[in-house]
Amino acid sequence: MRAYLWSQLAYLQRNTRLYVESETLLISGGFVALGRLVSIAVHLDHGDRKEDILRSLFLGFDSIMVDGSKLSFQENVQFTKALSQAASGKQIMVEAELGRLSGTEDGLTVEEYEALFTDVNQAEEFLSETRVNALAVCIGNVHGSYPPGGPKLNLDLLKDLNLVAERHDAVLVLHGASGVPEEYVKACIERGVVKFNVNTEVRGAYMETLKSEQKDLVDFMSSSKQAMEKVVLEKLRLFGSSGKAT
Ligand SMILES: [Zn+2]
Repeated sequence: MRAYLWSQLAYLQRNTRLYVESETLLISGGFVALGRLVSIAVHLDHGDRKEDILRSLFLGFDSIMVDGSKLSFQENVQFTKALSQAASGKQIMVEAELGRLSGTEDGLTVEEYEALFTDVNQAEEFLSETRVNALAVCIGNVHGSYPPGGPKLNLDLLKDLNLVAERHDAVLVLHGASGVPEEYVKACIERGVVKFNVNTEVRGAYMETLKSEQKDLVDFMSSSKQAMEKVVLEKLRLFGSSGKAT
């Protein structure tokens, strides 16, 4: 089975860097070192700056996401191809995004929103040119929270994209997996998705603890950690990743 079913992932992305700035190298290096002791993969998420991606390669990350999704298609191909080539021979997974993932707050019409979905013909050319290992797809998934009715994913499109990905020995990734119900998760796995990105629900659990009465900072730190752990454990079970760490 083509699979990168990771049980644990440590995500680092530019937002993190903005907060820690000069400590980034230290923190990133710490995660990489930790990854050698316990079974976690260290991943750069939404890397849209060449210098961040090259630094991650230098540090020995297990996986990078080259995010050129805000560029034109041809620019995305060139940006991703150059960094995919820089990563070649390093035994790391290279993920890229095609189409554009919107946020629920973007206020797009249905037509505008669907125009951002991943195009099957472009996916063929993109994978052929860039030779990335994983493709983050846009099939109705969004960053942030879904409306009360839940997500509406285009599973036919996902199936077609998976056929393209299989031809190029690539796997699929679904960002915006917070709030995606079990039936959709199963349908996505059947159609080649091997990695789900969950952020909103984990952050939400943390933020909820701020509303509770805490006696002390230590209590707060402990309860927020437990709240996030609970969500992560539920997701590991939902995605079928529990017990698969090696
Ligand atoms: Zn994302």
